[in-house]
Amino acid sequence: MKKMLPMLFFCLFCAQAGAQVPATGRWQSLSYSSAEVNARQESDYYELIRELADQGQINRNPAMLAKLRDILASLIPAATKLHPPSADWEWEIHLTSSADIDAVCFAGGKILVSEHFLLQLQLSDGEIAALLAHEAAHALASHQHEELSEARLLRDAPGNDLTLVAEQLRSDYRLQLKLSALSYQHEAEADQLGMQLALDSGWNPADLVRFYEKLARLPDRALLSRSVPLPSARLSMANGMAKYWASLPAPWHGSVAARATRIRHPDAVAMR
Ligand SMILES: [Zn+2]
Repeated sequence: MKKMLPMLFFCLFCAQAGAQVPATGRWQSLSYSSAEVNARQESDYYELIRELADQGQINRNPAMLAKLRDILASLIPAATKLHPPSADWEWEIHLTSSADIDAVCFAGGKILVSEHFLLQLQLSDGEIAALLAHEAAHALASHQHEELSEARLLRDAPGNDLTLVAEQLRSDYRLQLKLSALSYQHEAEADQLGMQLALDSGWNPADLVRFYEKLARLPDRALLSRSVPLPSARLSMANGMAKYWASLPAPWHGSVAARATRIRHPDAVAMR
């Protein structure tokens, strides 16, 4: 859900730790510690926020920002169940008026959303929940960590330092191209995991599907066409997940009515 390709390295002697994506169970080879990646990404996130603030392009719409924070807070209890280590994260979201970014999530639950993107799609609260759940899913599935780990193996420069790898990934188009198949997998996985997260959080499945309908109507702006699933495939996934959810036993359906009258989840955590 981003125009900017995210950040993320090489050492034949570094140990690869095994991890599994929540819900899907897909195995991943991760080269660094989660704490190291989260700290690196948090630093990159705040650097970006500072740059945007210097340009007067951050949090200029307090009402919209408050709504984003409430909707994100509604997703966090279910996110913690999907990925228990995220209970220690300080989830954070900011709003930018820059048109260079649609929405992006950094490791550890740091999200940035474009006001321009929200207004362009005229997103309802439930549709925003679908967008934020997709972004949160990238972090819950350690996609940033996996991308950095793959980049470490693919880069043709010496050195294994995480900062070096992240910087090369940010600026090296050839390296990004090599990772396009992984990016495609991440986008498809974030769609699926995000749908589950939003459904588990009580958001109306019709709103979630409508978000993917609106997304499919946007002109194709992917920098790397092979890095993002086709809009029709994303919409089919959303429809399939919604239908599956509707087939589940009744207790699940009570949470939709609750969501219609109350946005903030009782277990919502305080957010900056
Ligand atoms: Zn995405």
